[in-house]
Amino acid sequence: MSEISTGQTIVAIASGAAAGGVGMLRVSGPQSLRIAVALGCPQLKPRHAHYAKFRDAAGEVIDDGMALYFPGPRSFTGEDVVELQGHGSPVVLRQLLARCIELGARQARAGEFSERAFLNGKLDLAQAEAIADLIAAGDVRAARAARRSLDGVFSRRVEEVGEQLVRLRIHVEAAIDFADEPLDTLGGAQVRAGIEQAKALLAQLRIDAERGRKLRDGLHAVLIGPPNAGKSSLLNALAGSERAIVTDIAGTTRDTLRETIRIDGLELELVDTAGLREGGDAIEREGMRRARAEMQRADLAIVVLDARDPQAGRAAIGDAAAQAARQLWIYNKCDLLPQWPQNLDQDSIALSAANGEGLEQLHARLREIANDGAGEGMQGEFSARLRHVEALALASEHLDAADGQLHYDQLELAAEELRLAHDALGEITGRMTADDLLGRIFSSFCIGK
Ligand code: GDP
Ligand code: ZN
Repeated sequence: MSEISTGQTIVAIASGAAAGGVGMLRVSGPQSLRIAVALGCPQLKPRHAHYAKFRDAAGEVIDDGMALYFPGPRSFTGEDVVELQGHGSPVVLRQLLARCIELGARQARAGEFSERAFLNGKLDLAQAEAIADLIAAGDVRAARAARRSLDGVFSRRVEEVGEQLVRLRIHVEAAIDFADEPLDTLGGAQVRAGIEQAKALLAQLRIDAERGRKLRDGLHAVLIGPPNAGKSSLLNALAGSERAIVTDIAGTTRDTLRETIRIDGLELELVDTAGLREGGDAIEREGMRRARAEMQRADLAIVVLDARDPQAGRAAIGDAAAQAARQLWIYNKCDLLPQWPQNLDQDSIALSAANGEGLEQLHARLREIANDGAGEGMQGEFSARLRHVEALALASEHLDAADGQLHYDQLELAAEELRLAHDALGEITGRMTADDLLGRIFSSFCIGK
């Protein structure tokens, strides 16, 4: 009934691995309806729920439940789809799955349903990725953002910039045919205004996508500080556990230790690295090298200093904290000071990891940083991935380059840069995406999606 990408009919348990009241099998491809009939389903009316007994080869009932038939192209994948709902017993679901395979279906790969939906034009790539992000969302806000991306909020913003670039390309390429004339006589002011507009749209989109990326991935914060400043103690206080080992001997935490914690839906990855100390033995130097590498990938460096001698701590860290996008300075062990510090600047927090004083203030500050000054649950907030953020950055580079070329009346070079900017945007929605990248994206989905 429908156009299909591979011709093969695929099947998977779509309701997750755990036992539950209801379990669901999804079948997609040209053989879907035939398989449903062979299982014992009655004549299935499109998009109607039918009660059915699902039978094995010997006619024995495996389970009973509901069968639904969605003829392509009006289905999730765009192909003929049958959904079989039975009891959520893993044993029964596996039997049903095996029976469907006996009848000619093939076990679906991870993400294969979404991949077919993408290939059949039911979803663009950013929307397909949003399905996986919605399923993996750790809190209401991340789920809502993924839901919006699935609805196409992000894709439409990308397209808006893309359309602006297309208009510019048309204008610039038309002007190339009059190459002897300077651009200014060919509506150059209009083109430059258009470039400025595209830049502004893209700049705002990059900010919003980065926020969406943080919502999905969490804020990547790295703890650093000299030995014994209290990094492990702070990690434990934040995580509310005893995962990092706290000791009195300087330089104990030699390996990096990762801990992901959630504060009000904000995900924070803490990496406790070996205490930074210039010189030191080979193992400590390796720890420092790792700390610097971690910093370069971090959204935030949380620098822990002993409040009794913060200058020594700052000296020990050198330039490592500056590698991170942003820094927060923790003056720890304030309980040991004669007086609690007052009037610190807004990126500094006085704290005692030992008795918890100042911890609430740190929580609040982390939340602010994660939100980047934006209101919670903003209208239009969407989820995004690092891949998208990088593609937007690339588009932005090419747009800047196009702008530069226009200033020198290099119309052909400008047109080429505009095309590259447009291609970079196309990678987000999948118009321009290489097959191997597609394979990697969909294989990270779970089975049955
Ligand atoms: P790290 O080497 O930076 O990870 O430091 P640790 O977390 O291992 O702490 C070193 C020592 O300082 C331990 O004996 C902790 O109990 C102690 N310590 C950590 N934070 C505080 C604090 O806020 N106040 C006091 N009095 N002691 C602390
Ligand atoms: Zn430690």
